[in-house]
Amino acid sequence: MYCRVIVDIVHENVAKPFTYLVPEGMQLSPGQRVAVPFGAREKEGIVTELTGSCDIDPEKIRPVLRPLEDYAAIPPELMELAGEMAVRAHCPPAETLRLMLPAQMRGGRVSVRKVRTVTLAVPAGEAAEAMQSSRHGGKRARILELLLDRDTMTVPGIAAEVRDPGDALKKLETDGLVRITGEESLRTPAGAFAEVKDPGYELTPGQREALDEILPALHGKGGKFLLHGVTGSGKTEVFMKAVRDTLESGRSAIILVPEIALTPQMVSWFRGRFGAVAAVIHSRLSAGERYDEWRRIRRGDARVVVGARSAVFSPVQRLGLIVVDEEHESTYLNDRHPRYDTRDVAASRCTREGATMILASATPSILSFARARRGDYTLLEMPNRVNDRPLPEVDIVDMRTELENGNRTVLSGMLRRELKECIRKGEQAILLINRRGYNSFVSCRSCGYVVKCPNCDISMTYHIGSAEGKLRCHYCGAETLPPQTCPACGGHYIRYFGAGTQKVEEEVSKMLPGVRTVRMDYDTTGTKDGHGRLLEVFRSGEARILIGTQMIAKGLDFPQVTLVGVVAADMALNLPDYRSRERAFQLLTQVAGRAGRGQQSGRVIIQTYLPNDPVIGFAARQDYRAFFESEFRRRRNGLYPPFTVLARLLAESAAEEKAAAAADELEGRIRTLLEEHDDWKRKVLTVLKDTPSVKFLKGKHRRHILVKALVGRETDAFFGALTELAAKKREGAEIWFEVNPTSMM
Ligand code: ADP
Ligand code: ZN
Repeated sequence: MYCRVIVDIVHENVAKPFTYLVPEGMQLSPGQRVAVPFGAREKEGIVTELTGSCDIDPEKIRPVLRPLEDYAAIPPELMELAGEMAVRAHCPPAETLRLMLPAQMRGGRVSVRKVRTVTLAVPAGEAAEAMQSSRHGGKRARILELLLDRDTMTVPGIAAEVRDPGDALKKLETDGLVRITGEESLRTPAGAFAEVKDPGYELTPGQREALDEILPALHGKGGKFLLHGVTGSGKTEVFMKAVRDTLESGRSAIILVPEIALTPQMVSWFRGRFGAVAAVIHSRLSAGERYDEWRRIRRGDARVVVGARSAVFSPVQRLGLIVVDEEHESTYLNDRHPRYDTRDVAASRCTREGATMILASATPSILSFARARRGDYTLLEMPNRVNDRPLPEVDIVDMRTELENGNRTVLSGMLRRELKECIRKGEQAILLINRRGYNSFVSCRSCGYVVKCPNCDISMTYHIGSAEGKLRCHYCGAETLPPQTCPACGGHYIRYFGAGTQKVEEEVSKMLPGVRTVRMDYDTTGTKDGHGRLLEVFRSGEARILIGTQMIAKGLDFPQVTLVGVVAADMALNLPDYRSRERAFQLLTQVAGRAGRGQQSGRVIIQTYLPNDPVIGFAARQDYRAFFESEFRRRRNGLYPPFTVLARLLAESAAEEKAAAAADELEGRIRTLLEEHDDWKRKVLTVLKDTPSVKFLKGKHRRHILVKALVGRETDAFFGALTELAAKKREGAEIWFEVNPTSMM
């Protein structure tokens, strides 16, 4: 018997499976992890298939050393998925197989935790006699007494009653009086989980209709849905009911949420709602806990998995449902290698395993909505809020007029009035400002010089701290003191421009002294669970105003919030990226949706220098359809995704001429490739060598080549060739290849 094994090494030359001999008596199955000899070393690998024949000289075939577990760590469906993903991402299967296992499992870095248990090895009478006659007094007699009482005890259990029982236990074991065995135990993630009662809501007609479309798919061969419901329409309740139904029919469900949503409150909420069959995977789990959760899932003990994008690979048994909540979030795109889109992976799994997929959002991505319109997904719409609560009323404030009227602060007259009123009524407010720090840049009034990071072609942000203010680079973290005089012209007119979260917080405190605020941005949420703690201060009502970056716009449900202010709506719109309009619309609509979710109706104020921009208008009216139509048309006319695929080859080097030379070389090779492949060439619209808008980053000079091509198999093949091109080592320069890059800067 032979088997083929993908050895866990990521290198082009090792992309194919290797053949090994299965020694007599060893039981292996596909998906099982094994230790194999590889060259002079021992490596881990995964069995892909077992065969009776082999076309290599049997003398040369080496045997598998041993299985690493006595079961297949990767079930067959996930083996297939890994294969498919490797083809799509143009990478060796060893890389996609790694996604299917907890990282800590590779290299044996976690182990099954054994708790030693002690039982009597002799009949009770004999033990009692030994106890009576024990001349060695204290410990041994006491342990025997405990065991006579309770039959079995764990070693830690005994240690709780008898100090340092180690030696005494060893002697008892040598005398044949007790037996000590190791038994597997699971580390239950820390924290007690109070049971959360199912709220037992009577579904609204909108929720009912949506669920009635989903249930037949769940009970049948599966289906794919896009659940588009306005903010506060009760989407969560719809998919929770679908999850319940899945569990009742004996199948399993995976619920994917953006990582940021996995606060300790949410974790205990899910655990409380589903109890022991739930596994919640979040970033605060230790390596051991993560591994144990994975084993509970693999064994079928956990049947609801809640987690961020990588939970899509959970080896649940009998998959019935995958929910992707807030499906428009960019965290669902994994931009590290191997790249994948969680929504595509979910769809592929559901098709393969006959399961149902629900994508849910108030602001679906252009891509998903276009697919739903084309018929790939069934579109379910919930245009009304729960119990017909009104959507918030939105006002747009023109900040140019504010300036003309002499208001130089970051808060308009209207927002100031409404904030005071909101606090006076005992309600809560949220202020969004999409930049952290105090001032966004520092510049010389006389010559226009802007202080930039020494390592990056990016202006530095002014932060106030406990001691003195500092300029900080948001890309590499470099810090300097702000200059007193202009380094370029020597002038004394150094000024600070643009507001960040710190500045807004300061202005609010000046206006409403004594009113507690919470600031949530990358700087305040860095610590372990900083995020959850700050939200709790706001949820409890201790703080009245929440000020933060886009991280506060997402999915929060605070019924006391009646006012939302967007301090500067333009920032998100002005980025040089074809997706900036989509992101701005999502951000504005989502944050506006935080207002008026409880009994009181909500009010939203959007401050902008571009009051007539259609995107701001669509968001103000919460008109997703109109936004979609306009954006879809723009993408079609401009030949942007989803009508085309964008890719970029990025060359980086500490030496500018090397980055430029690498880009020249790549461009030349691309042109040659296209000359050689006419079918590829017909699909390619542009190949553009350029200097990115950020030409210097983290100490490296950058050049890129942007490729735009029509969707198709030829383009996939062409991009496969570009992947290989990028993988070749080059002296002094690094090359990155990205398809639909998350950032074009
Ligand atoms: P969405 O995710 O669509 O923005 P949520 O699922 O957060 O909306 O629901 C909004 C609010 O309405 C929540 O506070 C939720 O508890 C409540 N809710 C949901 N469904 C019902 C219902 N059928 N009856 C009463 N309240 C509901
Ligand atoms: Zn920098």
